[in-house]
Amino acid sequence: MTKAAPLFNRLALIGVGLIGSSIARAARAQGAVREIVATARSAATRRRVAELGLADRVVESNAAAVAGADLVIVCIPVGACGAVAAEIGPHLAPGAIVSDVGSVKAVIVRDMAPHLPKGVHFVPAHPVAGTEHSGPDAGFAELFVGRWCILTPPAWTDPGAVERLAAFWRALGAEVERMPPEHHDLVLAITSHLPHLIAYTIVGTADELAEVTRSEVLKFSAGGFRDFTRIAASDPTMWRDVFLANKDAVLEMLGTFNEDLSKLTRAIRRGDGQALFDHFARTRAIRRGIVDIGQDSPAPDFGRLHADLPVEPLPRPYAVTDDS
Ligand code: NAP
Repeated sequence: MTKAAPLFNRLALIGVGLIGSSIARAARAQGAVREIVATARSAATRRRVAELGLADRVVESNAAAVAGADLVIVCIPVGACGAVAAEIGPHLAPGAIVSDVGSVKAVIVRDMAPHLPKGVHFVPAHPVAGTEHSGPDAGFAELFVGRWCILTPPAWTDPGAVERLAAFWRALGAEVERMPPEHHDLVLAITSHLPHLIAYTIVGTADELAEVTRSEVLKFSAGGFRDFTRIAASDPTMWRDVFLANKDAVLEMLGTFNEDLSKLTRAIRRGDGQALFDHFARTRAIRRGIVDIGQDSPAPDFGRLHADLPVEPLPRPYAVTDDS
Protein backbone atom coordinates (compact mmCIF):
# COMPACT_ATOMS: atom_id res chain seq x y z
CA MET A 1 0.00 0.00 0.00
CA THR A 2 1.24 3.50 -0.76
CA LYS A 3 1.05 6.15 1.93
CA ALA A 4 -2.04 8.34 1.40
CA ALA A 5 -2.13 12.14 1.72
CA PRO A 6 -4.19 13.18 4.76
CA LEU A 7 -7.85 12.92 3.82
CA PHE A 8 -9.14 14.53 7.01
CA ASN A 9 -7.72 17.08 9.42
CA ARG A 10 -9.05 15.67 12.66
CA LEU A 11 -10.46 12.20 13.27
CA ALA A 12 -12.50 11.81 16.45
CA LEU A 13 -12.83 8.25 17.70
CA ILE A 14 -15.55 7.50 20.24
CA GLY A 15 -14.79 4.05 21.65
CA VAL A 16 -11.33 2.57 21.29
CA GLY A 17 -11.67 -1.19 21.41
CA LEU A 18 -10.65 -3.71 18.77
CA ILE A 19 -12.15 -1.74 15.87
CA GLY A 20 -11.50 1.81 17.11
CA SER A 21 -7.87 1.07 17.97
CA SER A 22 -7.34 -0.69 14.62
CA ILE A 23 -8.70 2.38 12.83
CA ALA A 24 -6.36 4.61 14.88
CA ARG A 25 -3.34 2.43 14.13
CA ALA A 26 -4.13 2.10 10.41
CA ALA A 27 -5.04 5.78 9.92
CA ARG A 28 -1.80 6.81 11.54
CA ALA A 29 0.32 4.25 9.67
CA GLN A 30 -1.18 5.43 6.38
CA GLY A 31 -1.09 9.14 7.18
CA ALA A 32 -4.82 9.24 6.39
CA VAL A 33 -5.56 11.97 8.98
CA ARG A 34 -3.54 14.84 10.45
CA GLU A 35 -4.70 14.38 14.03
CA ILE A 36 -6.54 11.76 16.08
CA VAL A 37 -8.59 12.68 19.14
CA ALA A 38 -9.99 9.74 21.09
CA THR A 39 -12.28 9.08 23.99
CA ALA A 40 -13.72 6.00 25.67
CA ARG A 41 -16.39 5.36 28.25
CA SER A 42 -14.11 4.25 31.10
CA ALA A 43 -11.11 6.03 32.60
CA ALA A 44 -9.20 2.73 32.41
CA THR A 45 -9.58 2.50 28.63
CA ARG A 46 -8.75 6.19 28.15
CA ARG A 47 -5.60 5.67 30.22
CA ARG A 48 -4.61 2.62 28.16
CA VAL A 49 -5.22 4.46 24.88
CA ALA A 50 -2.87 7.20 26.07
CA GLU A 51 -0.24 4.67 27.19
CA LEU A 52 -0.37 2.94 23.81
CA GLY A 53 -0.03 6.31 22.05
CA LEU A 54 -3.00 5.55 19.81
CA ALA A 55 -4.17 9.17 19.61
CA ASP A 56 -2.64 12.63 19.61
CA ARG A 57 -5.06 13.59 22.38
CA VAL A 58 -7.26 11.55 24.70
CA VAL A 59 -10.18 13.53 26.10
CA GLU A 60 -12.73 12.75 28.79
CA SER A 61 -16.03 13.46 27.06
CA ASN A 62 -17.67 12.63 23.76
CA ALA A 63 -18.53 16.32 23.30
CA ALA A 64 -14.87 17.35 23.69
CA ALA A 65 -13.78 14.60 21.27
CA VAL A 66 -15.98 15.73 18.36
CA ALA A 67 -15.32 19.48 18.72
CA GLY A 68 -13.61 20.66 15.52
CA ALA A 69 -13.39 17.16 14.00
CA ASP A 70 -14.14 16.75 10.29
CA LEU A 71 -14.51 12.97 10.69
CA VAL A 72 -16.20 11.31 13.67
CA ILE A 73 -16.32 7.51 13.91
CA VAL A 74 -18.37 5.94 16.70
CA CYS A 75 -16.83 2.54 17.54
CA ILE A 76 -19.05 1.22 20.34
CA PRO A 77 -21.73 -1.48 20.65
CA VAL A 78 -24.73 -0.95 18.37
CA GLY A 79 -27.19 -0.51 21.25
CA ALA A 80 -25.29 2.48 22.63
CA CYS A 81 -24.97 4.47 19.38
CA GLY A 82 -28.29 6.36 19.59
CA ALA A 83 -27.53 7.85 23.01
CA VAL A 84 -24.05 8.87 21.88
CA ALA A 85 -25.45 10.53 18.73
CA ALA A 86 -27.85 12.54 20.94
CA GLU A 87 -24.92 13.58 23.12
CA ILE A 88 -22.57 14.68 20.30
CA GLY A 89 -25.22 16.22 17.99
CA PRO A 90 -25.00 19.79 19.36
CA HIS A 91 -21.17 19.75 19.37
CA LEU A 92 -20.50 18.59 15.80
CA ALA A 93 -18.70 20.93 13.44
CA PRO A 94 -20.65 22.02 10.33
CA GLY A 95 -19.70 19.84 7.35
CA ALA A 96 -18.34 17.03 9.53
CA ILE A 97 -18.84 13.42 8.46
CA VAL A 98 -20.29 11.18 11.17
CA SER A 99 -19.88 7.44 10.80
CA ASP A 100 -19.88 4.27 12.87
CA VAL A 101 -18.67 0.68 12.55
CA GLY A 102 -21.69 -1.21 13.89
CA SER A 103 -22.41 -4.72 12.67
CA VAL A 104 -26.13 -3.94 12.09
CA LYS A 105 -27.13 -0.95 9.97
CA ALA A 106 -30.90 -0.27 9.81
CA VAL A 107 -31.03 0.26 13.58
CA ILE A 108 -28.01 2.58 13.41
CA VAL A 109 -29.76 4.79 10.84
CA ARG A 110 -32.95 4.74 12.93
CA ASP A 111 -31.18 5.57 16.22
CA MET A 112 -28.46 8.00 15.11
CA ALA A 113 -29.86 10.01 12.17
CA PRO A 114 -32.54 11.96 14.12
CA HIS A 115 -29.88 13.43 16.42
CA LEU A 116 -27.52 14.76 13.75
CA PRO A 117 -27.93 18.44 12.80
CA LYS A 118 -28.38 19.75 9.27
CA GLY A 119 -25.07 20.32 7.51
CA VAL A 120 -23.49 17.22 9.06
CA HIS A 121 -23.07 14.23 6.75
CA PHE A 122 -24.11 10.83 8.03
CA VAL A 123 -22.39 7.81 6.44
CA PRO A 124 -22.87 4.60 8.45
CA ALA A 125 -20.24 1.95 7.80
CA HIS A 126 -19.44 -1.64 8.68
CA PRO A 127 -15.90 -2.94 8.23
CA VAL A 128 -16.41 -6.68 7.79
CA ALA A 129 -13.25 -7.59 9.68
CA GLY A 130 -12.58 -8.58 13.24
CA THR A 131 -11.29 -11.11 15.72
CA GLU A 132 -12.65 -12.62 18.92
CA HIS A 133 -10.54 -10.19 21.00
CA SER A 134 -11.66 -6.89 22.49
CA GLY A 135 -10.16 -3.70 23.84
CA PRO A 136 -7.48 -1.22 22.74
CA ASP A 137 -4.64 -3.77 22.97
CA ALA A 138 -6.41 -6.13 20.56
CA GLY A 139 -6.31 -3.88 17.49
CA PHE A 140 -3.75 -3.93 14.70
CA ALA A 141 -3.16 -1.72 11.67
CA GLU A 142 -3.57 -4.49 9.09
CA LEU A 143 -7.04 -5.61 10.26
CA PHE A 144 -8.88 -4.08 7.31
CA VAL A 145 -6.45 -4.95 4.51
CA GLY A 146 -8.27 -6.82 1.74
CA ARG A 147 -11.51 -6.86 3.77
CA TRP A 148 -14.77 -5.23 2.77
CA CYS A 149 -16.13 -2.09 4.33
CA ILE A 150 -19.84 -1.67 3.59
CA LEU A 151 -21.24 1.86 3.53
CA THR A 152 -24.99 2.29 4.02
CA PRO A 153 -25.68 6.04 3.57
CA PRO A 154 -29.29 7.21 3.82
CA ALA A 155 -30.74 8.52 0.53
CA TRP A 156 -30.34 12.16 1.62
CA THR A 157 -26.58 11.95 2.34
CA ASP A 158 -24.33 14.02 0.07
CA PRO A 159 -22.57 11.64 -2.39
CA GLY A 160 -19.36 13.68 -2.02
CA ALA A 161 -19.25 12.84 1.71
CA VAL A 162 -19.83 9.16 0.94
CA GLU A 163 -16.92 9.22 -1.50
CA ARG A 164 -14.65 10.92 1.09
CA LEU A 165 -15.38 8.20 3.64
CA ALA A 166 -14.90 5.51 0.98
CA ALA A 167 -11.47 7.01 0.21
CA PHE A 168 -10.61 6.89 3.93
CA TRP A 169 -11.46 3.17 4.16
CA ARG A 170 -9.55 2.44 0.96
CA ALA A 171 -6.52 4.21 2.48
CA LEU A 172 -6.79 1.73 5.40
CA GLY A 173 -6.58 -1.11 2.88
CA ALA A 174 -10.27 -2.03 2.70
CA GLU A 175 -12.41 -2.54 -0.36
CA VAL A 176 -15.61 -0.50 -0.28
CA GLU A 177 -19.15 -1.48 -1.25
CA ARG A 178 -22.40 0.47 -0.82
CA MET A 179 -25.81 -1.00 -0.12
CA PRO A 180 -29.10 -0.10 1.57
CA PRO A 181 -29.02 -0.76 5.35
CA GLU A 182 -31.80 -3.37 5.24
CA HIS A 183 -29.99 -5.31 2.53
CA HIS A 184 -26.78 -5.19 4.56
CA ASP A 185 -28.62 -6.63 7.55
CA LEU A 186 -30.03 -9.51 5.51
CA VAL A 187 -26.67 -10.40 3.97
CA LEU A 188 -24.83 -10.22 7.29
CA ALA A 189 -27.54 -12.26 9.01
CA ILE A 190 -26.47 -15.28 6.97
CA THR A 191 -22.73 -14.60 6.59
CA SER A 192 -21.99 -13.50 10.15
CA HIS A 193 -24.87 -13.42 12.62
CA LEU A 194 -26.20 -16.95 12.05
CA PRO A 195 -22.71 -18.55 12.17
CA HIS A 196 -22.11 -16.80 15.49
CA LEU A 197 -25.47 -18.01 16.84
CA ILE A 198 -24.65 -21.58 15.79
CA ALA A 199 -21.21 -21.38 17.40
CA TYR A 200 -22.68 -19.97 20.61
CA THR A 201 -25.22 -22.82 20.58
CA ILE A 202 -22.79 -25.69 19.98
CA VAL A 203 -20.29 -24.50 22.57
CA GLY A 204 -23.08 -23.95 25.10
CA THR A 205 -24.55 -27.40 24.42
CA ALA A 206 -21.20 -29.08 24.95
CA ASP A 207 -20.78 -27.21 28.21
CA GLU A 208 -24.10 -28.55 29.45
CA LEU A 209 -22.96 -32.15 29.00
CA ALA A 210 -21.90 -34.22 31.99
CA GLU A 211 -18.54 -33.38 33.59
CA VAL A 212 -16.62 -36.36 32.19
CA THR A 213 -17.90 -35.79 28.66
CA ARG A 214 -17.11 -32.09 28.86
CA SER A 215 -13.45 -32.76 29.60
CA GLU A 216 -13.35 -35.07 26.59
CA VAL A 217 -14.99 -32.38 24.47
CA LEU A 218 -12.10 -30.07 25.30
CA LYS A 219 -9.46 -32.81 24.93
CA PHE A 220 -10.63 -33.87 21.47
CA SER A 221 -11.69 -30.40 20.34
CA ALA A 222 -9.40 -30.44 17.28
CA GLY A 223 -12.07 -32.59 15.62
CA GLY A 224 -13.89 -29.38 14.65
CA PHE A 225 -15.27 -28.09 17.95
CA ARG A 226 -12.37 -25.71 18.62
CA ASP A 227 -13.07 -23.75 15.44
CA PHE A 228 -16.52 -22.98 16.83
CA THR A 229 -15.02 -22.00 20.20
CA ARG A 230 -13.04 -19.18 18.57
CA ILE A 231 -16.21 -17.60 17.23
CA ALA A 232 -18.11 -18.31 20.46
CA ALA A 233 -15.43 -16.38 22.39
CA SER A 234 -16.57 -13.15 20.70
CA ASP A 235 -17.59 -10.19 22.82
CA PRO A 236 -20.90 -10.86 24.67
CA THR A 237 -22.06 -7.21 24.73
CA MET A 238 -21.43 -6.69 21.04
CA TRP A 239 -23.25 -9.88 20.06
CA ARG A 240 -26.16 -9.35 22.41
CA ASP A 241 -26.73 -6.02 20.66
CA VAL A 242 -26.35 -7.56 17.19
CA PHE A 243 -29.12 -10.10 17.79
CA LEU A 244 -31.43 -7.57 19.42
CA ALA A 245 -30.84 -5.10 16.59
CA ASN A 246 -31.12 -7.54 13.67
CA LYS A 247 -33.95 -9.65 15.02
CA ASP A 248 -36.10 -9.90 11.87
CA ALA A 249 -33.34 -10.83 9.42
CA VAL A 250 -31.79 -13.33 11.84
CA LEU A 251 -35.17 -14.99 12.47
CA GLU A 252 -35.77 -15.22 8.73
CA MET A 253 -32.37 -16.88 8.13
CA LEU A 254 -32.85 -19.12 11.15
CA GLY A 255 -36.11 -20.39 9.61
CA THR A 256 -34.31 -21.37 6.40
CA PHE A 257 -31.44 -22.89 8.37
CA ASN A 258 -33.84 -25.03 10.43
CA GLU A 259 -35.44 -26.36 7.22
CA ASP A 260 -32.02 -27.30 5.81
CA LEU A 261 -31.00 -28.90 9.10
CA SER A 262 -34.19 -30.96 8.98
CA LYS A 263 -33.27 -32.16 5.47
CA LEU A 264 -29.83 -33.32 6.65
CA THR A 265 -31.35 -34.91 9.76
CA ARG A 266 -33.74 -36.87 7.51
CA ALA A 267 -30.87 -37.95 5.23
CA ILE A 268 -28.92 -39.29 8.23
CA ARG A 269 -31.99 -41.04 9.65
CA ARG A 270 -32.77 -42.69 6.30
CA GLY A 271 -29.14 -43.55 5.58
CA ASP A 272 -29.30 -41.43 2.41
CA GLY A 273 -25.55 -41.25 1.70
CA GLN A 274 -26.05 -39.66 -1.72
CA ALA A 275 -27.95 -36.70 -0.24
CA LEU A 276 -25.22 -36.20 2.39
CA PHE A 277 -22.42 -36.52 -0.20
CA ASP A 278 -24.08 -34.06 -2.58
CA HIS A 279 -24.61 -31.53 0.19
CA PHE A 280 -21.04 -31.78 1.48
CA ALA A 281 -19.61 -31.56 -2.07
CA ARG A 282 -21.55 -28.32 -2.57
CA THR A 283 -20.29 -26.80 0.67
CA ARG A 284 -16.69 -27.82 -0.08
CA ALA A 285 -16.94 -25.89 -3.36
CA ILE A 286 -18.19 -22.82 -1.44
CA ARG A 287 -15.11 -22.96 0.82
CA ARG A 288 -12.86 -23.15 -2.26
CA GLY A 289 -14.69 -20.15 -3.72
CA ILE A 290 -13.96 -18.08 -0.59
CA VAL A 291 -10.25 -18.94 -0.83
CA ASP A 292 -10.24 -18.21 -4.59
CA ILE A 293 -11.52 -14.64 -4.08
CA GLY A 294 -8.89 -14.00 -1.39
CA GLN A 295 -11.24 -13.88 1.63
CA ASP A 296 -9.25 -16.60 3.43
CA SER A 297 -5.87 -18.30 3.30
CA PRO A 298 -5.49 -21.56 1.33
CA ALA A 299 -3.26 -22.93 4.13
CA PRO A 300 -4.66 -26.18 5.55
CA ASP A 301 -6.19 -26.09 9.05
CA PHE A 302 -6.42 -22.24 8.91
CA GLY A 303 -2.60 -22.11 8.75
CA ARG A 304 -2.09 -23.48 12.26
CA LEU A 305 1.45 -24.55 13.03
CA HIS A 306 1.87 -28.24 13.70
CA ALA A 307 4.42 -29.64 16.15
CA ASP A 308 7.47 -31.47 14.81
CA LEU A 309 7.56 -35.25 14.78
CA PRO A 310 8.99 -36.76 17.99
CA VAL A 311 12.78 -37.16 17.77
CA GLU A 312 12.92 -40.54 19.54
CA PRO A 313 12.88 -43.58 17.25
CA LEU A 314 9.66 -45.59 17.13
CA PRO A 315 9.59 -48.49 19.61
CA ARG A 316 9.50 -52.09 18.29
CA PRO A 317 7.43 -53.66 16.78
CA TYR A 318 6.51 -50.50 14.77
CA ALA A 319 10.07 -49.53 13.78
CA VAL A 320 11.23 -50.87 10.42
CA THR A 321 14.48 -52.83 10.96
CA ASP A 322 16.86 -54.74 8.72
CA ASP A 323 15.54 -58.07 9.90
CA SER A 324 11.89 -57.18 9.39
P1 NAP B 1 -14.64 -3.59 21.99
O1 NAP B 1 -13.26 -4.00 21.65
O2 NAP B 1 -15.35 -4.30 23.07
O3 NAP B 1 -14.65 -2.01 22.30
C1 NAP B 1 -15.88 -1.37 22.59
C2 NAP B 1 -15.66 0.09 22.92
O4 NAP B 1 -16.96 0.65 23.16
C3 NAP B 1 -14.84 0.35 24.17
O5 NAP B 1 -14.08 1.54 23.99
C4 NAP B 1 -15.90 0.56 25.25
O6 NAP B 1 -15.47 1.44 26.25
C5 NAP B 1 -17.00 1.25 24.45
N1 NAP B 1 -18.33 1.03 25.02
C6 NAP B 1 -18.90 -0.14 25.40
N2 NAP B 1 -20.15 0.05 25.83
C7 NAP B 1 -20.39 1.38 25.72
C8 NAP B 1 -21.50 2.20 26.01
N3 NAP B 1 -22.63 1.69 26.51
N4 NAP B 1 -21.38 3.54 25.77
C9 NAP B 1 -20.24 4.06 25.30
N5 NAP B 1 -19.15 3.33 24.99
C10 NAP B 1 -19.23 2.01 25.20
O7 NAP B 1 -15.61 -3.68 20.72
P2 NAP B 1 -15.28 -3.74 19.15
O8 NAP B 1 -15.02 -5.14 18.77
O9 NAP B 1 -14.27 -2.69 18.81
O10 NAP B 1 -16.72 -3.38 18.54
C11 NAP B 1 -17.15 -2.04 18.41
C12 NAP B 1 -18.20 -1.97 17.32
O11 NAP B 1 -17.64 -2.55 16.12
C13 NAP B 1 -19.49 -2.74 17.61
O12 NAP B 1 -20.59 -1.96 17.21
C14 NAP B 1 -19.40 -3.95 16.69
O13 NAP B 1 -20.69 -4.36 16.24
C15 NAP B 1 -18.54 -3.46 15.54
N6 NAP B 1 -17.74 -4.46 14.86
C16 NAP B 1 -17.05 -5.39 15.57
C17 NAP B 1 -16.30 -6.37 14.91
C18 NAP B 1 -15.55 -7.43 15.68
O14 NAP B 1 -15.21 -8.48 15.12
N7 NAP B 1 -15.27 -7.25 16.96
C19 NAP B 1 -16.23 -6.35 13.52
C20 NAP B 1 -16.90 -5.35 12.80
C21 NAP B 1 -17.66 -4.41 13.49
P3 NAP B 1 -14.77 0.91 27.60
O15 NAP B 1 -13.56 0.12 27.16
O16 NAP B 1 -14.43 2.14 28.31
O17 NAP B 1 -15.78 0.04 28.29
